[in-house]
Amino acid sequence: MNFPGGINRPPYETADGYLTTTTGCSHNTCLFCTYFKDLKFRKVSIEEIEADIREIPAAFGSPKRIFLQGADGYSADYDVLMKTAELLHRYVPSVETIGGYARIDSFSDKTEQQLRNMSSAGFANPYIGVESGDDVVLKRINKGYTAAQAREQLEKLDAAGFKYIVNFLNGAGGHGYGLQNAHLTAALYDGLHPTMVNTSMLTVVPGTPLYRAVQKGLYAESTETEKLEEIHEFIRCLTNDTIFMNEHASNLLHVQCRLPESKDRLLAFIRNLIDGSDEKRMREYRERITQVF
Ligand code: SF4
Repeated sequence: MNFPGGINRPPYETADGYLTTTTGCSHNTCLFCTYFKDLKFRKVSIEEIEADIREIPAAFGSPKRIFLQGADGYSADYDVLMKTAELLHRYVPSVETIGGYARIDSFSDKTEQQLRNMSSAGFANPYIGVESGDDVVLKRINKGYTAAQAREQLEKLDAAGFKYIVNFLNGAGGHGYGLQNAHLTAALYDGLHPTMVNTSMLTVVPGTPLYRAVQKGLYAESTETEKLEEIHEFIRCLTNDTIFMNEHASNLLHVQCRLPESKDRLLAFIRNLIDGSDEKRMREYRERITQVF
């Protein structure tokens, strides 16, 4: 099968089969990112996709879910994605849903009706790296869209009844900017219906443009305590009825719970963590995991 960038998935996507509809990343210039740097973005042809789908039973058995590979497998053309779903259901009848990573602009070339059709065909819960609802932060990390553009696409997904997961990149704004990032990102998500709100913590990895900006004094990282204060504020402001998850290795705490039911307990837990926190030890953890990414 064709996995030129290896197999990447969020921690909770453990029992999937995998398939490639695009390689690399259509954007590939987020300043903190270490993925797909030597891989050109390419939309895979339906002939290649079909050949891979025929190999899924031998490679992955009878998966219920397929997780598309590459940074934004949902950026494939609508017709290709619909044909992919049809072929998956034909050759791998166990498949119920098709996930994958997505960018906000993976949806901008698809109409509300097309998204409704994709949802009926099994596309569900792509992991969208929204990261922030603050235009200053989005620009600072070069995400390639504004908060208003993110909101427009997420509202379209809701209107189409399309299930999706969003991510918040805790610490992306840098030193002194966490609380504003928390407020504006919670405001971006207010009134939307994500199945899950995920969070990960920014880790500035050597070799990235963001690392070079830190070296030159152009970007100041949040302290680890600041990141904890930011995530506390983000959860406090979050109004969604959703699953909250932060199980990524970058996080200083790993929890999964339902909001708003568990909000008070979760906030108390994080406050407790902040009160007993040791910045030096947390920073050591951050340094250690730079090798993971
Ligand atoms: S963070 Fe995602 S969208 Fe940004 S460059 Fe990396 S893979 Fe592409």
